[in-house]
Amino acid sequence: MTTDDLLARHRAVLPSWMMLYYADPIELVSGSGRRVTDAQGRTYLDFFGGVLTNSIGYDIPEIREAVERQLRTGIVHTSTIYLIRQQVELAEKIARLSGIPDARVFFTNSGTEANEAALLVATNFRRSHQVLAVRNSYHGRSYAAMGVTGNRNWSVSGLNPLQVAWLHSGDRVRGLLSRLPEADRIDAAVEDLREVLATQTAGDVACLIAEPIQGVGGFVAPPDGLFAAWKKVLDEHGILLVSDEVQTGWGRTGEHFWGYQAHGVTPDLLTFAKGVGNGFALAGVVGRADVLDSVSGISFSTFGGNPLSAAAGNAVLDYLRDHDLQANAARVGAILADGLRAAVAGLDRVAEVRGRGLMLGVEFVRPGTTEPDPVLTTRVFEACRAGGLLAGKGGLHGNVLRMGPPLTLTEDEAREGLAILVEAIRSCVAEAVAA
Ligand code: PMP
Repeated sequence: MTTDDLLARHRAVLPSWMMLYYADPIELVSGSGRRVTDAQGRTYLDFFGGVLTNSIGYDIPEIREAVERQLRTGIVHTSTIYLIRQQVELAEKIARLSGIPDARVFFTNSGTEANEAALLVATNFRRSHQVLAVRNSYHGRSYAAMGVTGNRNWSVSGLNPLQVAWLHSGDRVRGLLSRLPEADRIDAAVEDLREVLATQTAGDVACLIAEPIQGVGGFVAPPDGLFAAWKKVLDEHGILLVSDEVQTGWGRTGEHFWGYQAHGVTPDLLTFAKGVGNGFALAGVVGRADVLDSVSGISFSTFGGNPLSAAAGNAVLDYLRDHDLQANAARVGAILADGLRAAVAGLDRVAEVRGRGLMLGVEFVRPGTTEPDPVLTTRVFEACRAGGLLAGKGGLHGNVLRMGPPLTLTEDEAREGLAILVEAIRSCVAEAVAA
């Protein structure tokens, strides 16, 4: 079966709203290190899969061996009604790393489910279904997670089980706060929070859910310290803070292990997912014991924290620590960020190069304006692929190129990818100017 046949069959059997990247979609069949190979034998340097499924890359012997050891047991599992050694060990590690005192961990299979669980325990703890969320956010595609997603492109239903009030994001390029000087944006966001609480809620709000850097939203970073400023107000009302660390966790931002640490405050709950299983479905919520224990009744999860995923997760966390990948993200990320900033200096088609560590975005706009240019963004994105580099796209208007390579990216690979990126941006901008 060719990739074209596969595409036709995909379109015939999957729902119409399942997005595929690229005009000519890719079928990946193998990977090694930071490179992936498609069904036609083309190899790409992967600058996006790190923030998705494979935080430390492909075919890593330590992870393979940990999973193979688990496979050789015959996969004794049959759900969380039995004790799972790897799960308890992983929960202890994550609880310790979370920074939340005496934390509890509940494992799920996806980020969506992790946020659903966080919203469930927060609303139950507070006996309120009122929730605050941030414009331009993405938290998943279940009913509640979609309900707190502030980007209608990603809602396949407008119905919402929660009563949600929306806060402004700290976007520097667009939105109300972008018009203010940097120094005034936190005060304005706090004023916005107070006003939203007073005008759009009955006061007894359960929680505020936010991403420290918005992922799908185009790597939009609010001003450092915003979560701490928000939390001061939230604490006056007993409202919980939930940090969605699905993209920002595990050292990706370089300076910190979790995205929330740039904000100078510890959340009550944090959710994690994506790359922590390095290909295996592993996610969850970690948080205050009183909040997680507040759910009465009994529960279990058939696959949440199963031995295969948990074995992979334990091996990933050990690998991250042993190779100090957070420091690598800071060092290699700086090469990319500096190179990109130098290359786009003076280009009036680029509004901003932003992000932290190995989470970097480039926002494309119409000449000299902040009007989004998704057409140019798509051209650059396709040109990167033609040059052998996979990147991501995002933002409310689809005009942000996103880079989230595996945290093991080497300096040589960073320079190689940077050269492809810079060439793609230069040639596509030159073409756009000439047109
Ligand atoms: N939260 C954030 C910040 C995400 O980026 C995503 C996935 N893009 C999710 C939640 C949902 O995770 P999943 O796709 O595993 O359900």
